[in-house]
Amino acid sequence: MDIQYRLEQKRKVLADFPGPRSLELAARRAQAVAAGVASSVPVYVADADGGIIHDVDGNSFIDLGSGIAVTTVGASDAAVVGAVKEQVEHFTHTCFMVSPYEGYVAVAEKLNQLTPGEHAKRTVLFNSGAEAVENAIKIARIATGRTAVVAFDHAYHGRTNLTMGLTAKAMPYKHGFGPFAGEVYRAPMSYPFREENPQITGKEAAERAILMMSKQIGADQIAAIIIEPIQGEGGFIVPADGFLPRLAEFAKENGIVFIADEVQSGFARTGEWFAVQHEGVVPDLVTTAKGIAGGMPLSAVTGRAELLDAVHGGGLGGTYGGNPVACAAALAAIDTMETQDLRGRAREIEATVKERLGKLQAELGEAGIIGDIRGRGAMLALEFVKAGSGDAKVPDAAATKKIAEYCLKEGVIILTCGTYGNVIRLLPPLVISDELLADGLDVLEAAIRSVA
Ligand SMILES: *Cc1c(COP(=O)(O)O)cnc(C)c1O
Repeated sequence: MDIQYRLEQKRKVLADFPGPRSLELAARRAQAVAAGVASSVPVYVADADGGIIHDVDGNSFIDLGSGIAVTTVGASDAAVVGAVKEQVEHFTHTCFMVSPYEGYVAVAEKLNQLTPGEHAKRTVLFNSGAEAVENAIKIARIATGRTAVVAFDHAYHGRTNLTMGLTAKAMPYKHGFGPFAGEVYRAPMSYPFREENPQITGKEAAERAILMMSKQIGADQIAAIIIEPIQGEGGFIVPADGFLPRLAEFAKENGIVFIADEVQSGFARTGEWFAVQHEGVVPDLVTTAKGIAGGMPLSAVTGRAELLDAVHGGGLGGTYGGNPVACAAALAAIDTMETQDLRGRAREIEATVKERLGKLQAELGEAGIIGDIRGRGAMLALEFVKAGSGDAKVPDAAATKKIAEYCLKEGVIILTCGTYGNVIRLLPPLVISDELLADGLDVLEAAIRSVA
């Protein structure tokens, strides 16, 4: 990796935190912005580059969240900035459904090339992850002539009506927002750390889900199975080996469209272009967003040509879908991922973090608060349990919150997640320097010790 940073890559927190400018903005916000939009940190951003975020009061934070797995190449990657500037000087929008342009086609070609499988593929572009998921379901339904959709425990697929229905967690995502779309069914997930029978294999966990689908829905009624290959908001849950391949096989045997929601796990994040590649799974449809365009809003559905082409002309689209500026950013971001070998970088980050945190876990011992360390590449998580809770593995959301707060006060932005709110997820930009990552891990380690 050979990155020229624009901003100094150094953590700094001043004594009065949050500072006066951030407090002033928070007061304006309270009068202007809907209360339903929450922010993880109380400071307002002035600049961001590589692994660092500067706030409006002169503090600098190590970014271990990437704006939720978005700024994989950093928040102001030189190639992305250049491509965006070049594009906005020509046209910001024409609407691909009115007057098309090359960038959209080039992004589709790139996605068709990078996604798993050698079959003929097509791509359609949108703006958000939720929009991509909704459209993947539309495509699966029309192509199969069936209606039922299967999602999993702990799933997160977005905040629009259909994707809320697919999402598992009520608070805060669904609470009070129903009724939800019909024909959505929930199957049991493989969650190795919390299985009643810790010996259960991935294949057996898949058979448990298949039994539910066969008995409660009927395999021939199912249009699509949608799954995050590594669950994101649900707690960075990595299913046991064999779970995804068996589900994909069941889908194939029964004419069901297998959709991998790679919105969070895609684009080099896990050390492969897509997380399904760790198990050699070839999905029928892949949804992508987040890391795709260096922070510009863009999403996609990519998959088997016969599925996407089953939709009548005009059946897919949207005013902004595949915006030319976002497409230019995506091509540049993907180029940076390729030229800087960010997949290799993700694997390096995994090795560094797992070694460091593994040592700490061993030191804290069996009865310590680190219940589980998991994930792939730079999509890593720590699951915290009440010290000494033994086999009960009682989730400790309070300790998790304290750890994140400690980190923030020391200048490290860390995100939490999980059905039980007891998971810290590490999603650094893949362009973070070794020094900055090490400094961030020092702080995290001190934070964990302070509550352990
Ligand atoms: C974030 C996310 C979504 C929703 O994406 P938005 O761009 O927020 O609509 C869907 N699926 C997964 C797996 C996600 O992580």
